[in-house]
Amino acid sequence: MSKVVVLGAGISGHTSVAYLRRYLGKEHEVVIVSPNSNYQWVPSNIWVGVGLMKPDQVKFKLAPVYKKLGINYKQALALSIHPEGDREVEKGFVKIRYVSEEKKDQEEKVTYDYLVNATGPKLNFAATEGLGPDKFTNSVCTYDHAAHAWENLQKALKKMENGEKQTFLIGTGHPLATCQGAAFEYVLNIAFEIGRRKLVDMADIWWISNEYELGDFGMGGAYVKKNGYITPTKIFTESILKEYGVRWIKRAGVFKVEKNKVHYETLNGEFHTKEFDFAMLIPGFAGSGMKAFARNGEDISSKLFAANTMMKVDADYTPKPYEEWKASDWPNIYQSPVYDNIYAAGIAFAPPHVMSKPMQSPNGTKIFPTPPRTGMPSGVIGKIVAQNIAHQIKTGKKDHPHKASMAKMGAACIVSAGYGLFRGQAAVMTVKPIVQDWEKYPKWGRSIHDTVGEVGTAGHWMKLFMHYMFLYKAKAKPFWWLIPE
Ligand SMILES: Cc1cc2nc3c(=O)[nH]c(=O)nc-3n(C[C@H](O)[C@H](O)[C@H](O)COP(=O)(O)OP(=O)(O)OC[C@H]3O[C@@H](n4cnc5c(N)ncnc54)[C@H](O)[C@@H]3O)c2cc1C
Repeated sequence: MSKVVVLGAGISGHTSVAYLRRYLGKEHEVVIVSPNSNYQWVPSNIWVGVGLMKPDQVKFKLAPVYKKLGINYKQALALSIHPEGDREVEKGFVKIRYVSEEKKDQEEKVTYDYLVNATGPKLNFAATEGLGPDKFTNSVCTYDHAAHAWENLQKALKKMENGEKQTFLIGTGHPLATCQGAAFEYVLNIAFEIGRRKLVDMADIWWISNEYELGDFGMGGAYVKKNGYITPTKIFTESILKEYGVRWIKRAGVFKVEKNKVHYETLNGEFHTKEFDFAMLIPGFAGSGMKAFARNGEDISSKLFAANTMMKVDADYTPKPYEEWKASDWPNIYQSPVYDNIYAAGIAFAPPHVMSKPMQSPNGTKIFPTPPRTGMPSGVIGKIVAQNIAHQIKTGKKDHPHKASMAKMGAACIVSAGYGLFRGQAAVMTVKPIVQDWEKYPKWGRSIHDTVGEVGTAGHWMKLFMHYMFLYKAKAKPFWWLIPE
């Protein structure tokens, strides 16, 4: 009998446990540790943030789903990993602290044969003074944050209806923030809602970003095929913002927020402020902050984790200049190089380097986007990690037949504004591969046939369809496994 423990019931971890349970017989135990009693379909939080969906439409209780599937669910926070055990416990374990009502604050050592760290990003609001929903800006990163953002947005809309002009500032809240796509989608949704209410003359809408050029999206930008032409994402993105009446500030590293004012430094070393009435700025991301300890109690966190506390896997972390980066630096199987029964899936794994060209201001401030890890790769990685672990348990072999490099797989990004069947519009961008491969595709860095951008209603329908389809899959309803990640 083997025991697999997965940490984090987000897109990656939830996918992983569901497949582990499907592939492994009942004699094997599958455990999931996650603090939130709900699953949330994060991409739809954007719609919660503009009042078009209620939080209940993007989340559901995890416990009944795990009960149905036969997965042992512990509503708890993983604190530390002990890959060699300790004086009391012979094998590897994770120390957890319960957050559930009945066991609140109790600690437990959960042993494992295989461990999957899928704890996603820590939303590091603390890295920017004054940032976050408890301070001066809004967030749409969780359904609670998004519901709070909608409350504040309604106040701004009301003021405009009463004749008071409002400035909206949406974008990145840290010089190294990622997830530009989500913020971009939010700014378009806000612009759409303002237009729908005929309040355009009362609104001044701004996009602020750490990107060197718009459309970088943390992927170093892309060339997309559109109506038979090859267009850089810079043009694609700028034209969409223009169409929606949004102005922009680029190459900006936000380092401080005060009430109604952000402070930012630009790549040319200048310091500026921008006043706002409503701001939604994405924080920097870090790993979950778990520690790791050897059997003798020595802190071995730096062996397992990179400096940003994301987990090191089978990537090439050798520091090298931008010009020498290769697609093959990116991991394939997400296995820890120090403990072969530990894996990291989704945002929890440390990328070997960024994808956008690193830049810094004359003052030494690094201002560029870190790599995005969107839902699709997070789900695919969760699945292949589950497949490989199940393969090893069933065959006793130590190989990994399933691989999923972000330098090989494609991803689709749908930025949808508006809601409902007839009122919405979306920009759809597909890229393949996600990480540029200049050896294989010397001209464009990616396959120009599979890297496409379109704007229209069809993409909006797709996003709406995906909302229902992925929630159906996450609830493990009949034949859920037929729906791709
Ligand atoms: C507003 C927004 C919109 C987005 N829109 C899109 C989109 O349209 N398309 C797209 O592809 N991607 C989108 N993304 C990105 C997508 O949501 C992420 O790629 C995805 O959620 C990452 O999955 P994950 O499992 O790695 O992390 P998460 O989904 O964040 O899950 C991590 C889980 O780990 C748990 N956890 C954290 N710490 C611990 C701990 N110590 N112990 C145990 N559990 C822990 C968390 O509670 C959470 O359940 C969006 C992101 C945001 C914020």
